[in-house]
Amino acid sequence: MNANQAATEPLVELSHVEKRFGDLHVLKDINLKVAKGDVLVVIGPSGSGKSTMCRTINRLETIDSGDIRIDGHPLPQEGKDLAKLRAEVGMVFQSFNLFANKTILENVTLAPIKVRHMAKKDAEDLAMGLLARVGVDSQASKMPSQLSGGQQQRVAIARALAMHPKVMLFDEPTSALDPEMVNEVLDVMVELAHEDMTMICVTHEMGFARKVANRIVFMADGQILEEGTPDEFFENPQTDRAKDFLSKIL
Ligand code: ADP
Ligand code: MG
Repeated sequence: MNANQAATEPLVELSHVEKRFGDLHVLKDINLKVAKGDVLVVIGPSGSGKSTMCRTINRLETIDSGDIRIDGHPLPQEGKDLAKLRAEVGMVFQSFNLFANKTILENVTLAPIKVRHMAKKDAEDLAMGLLARVGVDSQASKMPSQLSGGQQQRVAIARALAMHPKVMLFDEPTSALDPEMVNEVLDVMVELAHEDMTMICVTHEMGFARKVANRIVFMADGQILEEGTPDEFFENPQTDRAKDFLSKIL
């Protein structure tokens, strides 16, 4: 393979992905390629399958048919390889999902020690650096419940980064936050994007989408209806569903 081909090979590729929950057809022929350094923003009405799509990418959900590849490799089914995949694909959820009975520092060092077999001291150095990067290093010895929502979400980002992920998935990371805390989390995401992190972000923060995304995907009813640059999508949506959605949120 020459250098050119390597550069253009997608980091994340979904091909003809189908997913049903019983009778409910939640993902319908999803095809998506995310290149290294892409910041993809996924938007669409509630119930359109955005979270399910994200969850299939680190195999928190299985798929019924189709194919998902990270860096050219099919998703592992189980065991050590699956733990490694989950490390390569960082995920930040709406509800911060920190371990409630562990300190902030332990939340960040846990996976590097368990999965990457890092020495405790090295994991702590790494974690403190990341906590400083997201501006919560002074909280390291506290428990999650002692932090604000915005702080907890920044810890969740640091925890994912500690595994040196190839791609970060954000599923409505600011939706559960009080309004005054939204920007402190978005700022961290903007910084990551500027550092060339590959990101897939489900968000209703249209300011973020316009400023930071290089591609927008619009989903409705389990399908990708539109895909384009922010300018193309926001200035010139093609489908009635997208026009209707935008008229309600902008
Ligand atoms: P979105 O994130 O776009 O709001 P979701 O992916 O959460 O959409 O959900 C898509 C559809 O799948 C919704 O109708 C939702 O109720 C349904 N759904 C999601 N998870 C499950 C599940 N574990 N079991 C059954 N139905 C589910
Ligand atoms: Mg969702």
